[in-house]
Amino acid sequence: SNQDQPVLITGGAGFIGANFVLDWFKQPNARPLINLDKLTYAGNFASLAPVQDNPAYHFVHGDILDGELVARLLREHHPSAILHFAAESHVDRSISGPEAFLKTNIDGTFVLLREAHTYFQTLTPEEQVTFRFLHVSTDEVYGTLTPDAPAFHEDTPYAPNSPYAASKAASDHLVRAWHHTYKLPTLVTNCSNNYGPLQFPEKLIPLMITQALTGKPLPVYGDGQQVRDWLYVGDHCSAIRAVLAGGRIGETYNVGGGNQRANLQVVNTLCDLLDELVPHSPYAPHKQLIRFVTDRPGHDRRYAIDARKIESELNWHATESFETGLRKTVAWYLANTAWTENVTSGAYKNWIQQNYSHRTESGE
Ligand code: NAD
Repeated sequence: SNQDQPVLITGGAGFIGANFVLDWFKQPNARPLINLDKLTYAGNFASLAPVQDNPAYHFVHGDILDGELVARLLREHHPSAILHFAAESHVDRSISGPEAFLKTNIDGTFVLLREAHTYFQTLTPEEQVTFRFLHVSTDEVYGTLTPDAPAFHEDTPYAPNSPYAASKAASDHLVRAWHHTYKLPTLVTNCSNNYGPLQFPEKLIPLMITQALTGKPLPVYGDGQQVRDWLYVGDHCSAIRAVLAGGRIGETYNVGGGNQRANLQVVNTLCDLLDELVPHSPYAPHKQLIRFVTDRPGHDRRYAIDARKIESELNWHATESFETGLRKTVAWYLANTAWTENVTSGAYKNWIQQNYSHRTESGE
């Protein structure tokens, strides 16, 4: 039956994907997982160490742009669903180098859809009823909100502002078209900013934690008043499982934590947490490390998610409060400095040097 068939996940070595894989195998009767990941700078094999020896878990090192590989994996493993997480995901990198974003996020999604459609046609009618293609996307496709505007809902018009957001918007449209044109049973989730363990330290929260722990400046873009709606990664993972299990085919579900916070507020809270959790730090009070740096070009002012559809239809609710989630996250980075060392060695170090250090305005 469908319960024994594996699920193909792409990008399962990234931040959200790895959290998803680890959470998946904590669920009762978890189906086997095939994880296809290219292991870019953002993918970390070590994140998946806890499941490496699980016979129900199978890692495949490869690129979603490789149609032959995707076709072979579908043929050989016969999955009952595809969960598509793989992407280039960092807005700043999309500004300095958009090509990789168009390739992986747009062309890569196209290749997966094309191969999924071919595969879908080989399934029995019974298998076709349960097959799903779930595309993981972002609230950034909706653009930016003024301070008093209502939160993004599923019918908010698309208005992406960064190359990253535009590439994700394009991929969402392709998924929609493959449903309408080819009747592929698709699902789309558009999620707000995630935070939690295993996040690559180029994103706001882990960047601030890892910089602060070594006494380096905490670069805050512009006035720091950009508002994001933060979601603990474990809540995102449970939302994806809920949509996979019960989402209506062809539908989009917005996922958010209902935690709107300005970036500067987030950084201040992190500094307070670090003062408390690292009481003998030579860098305390950590707020002294904050530096305001030139704003990101085209920086969206505010994102907020209206998650009532997934809440009412699928009875999904975020369970982690921002304060407890942030505390857990800081504690995780404090306990896993080797993980951070590992992922920030080499190429990434040069990148962060070029992209953050020279922009600090005040002296260090
Ligand atoms: P991430 O950058 O941490 O991980 C991406 C993963 O995809 C990495 O393991 C990488 O190796 C893999 N990958 C990249 N290109 C690939 C390719 N061509 N072929 C195969 N694998 C490839 O990203 P994340 O933060 O975990 O985000 C996962 C998904 O969730 C993305 O689609 C992203 O757009 C979406 N999303 C993220 C957030 C967030 O706050 N992080 C919010 C909403 C939506």
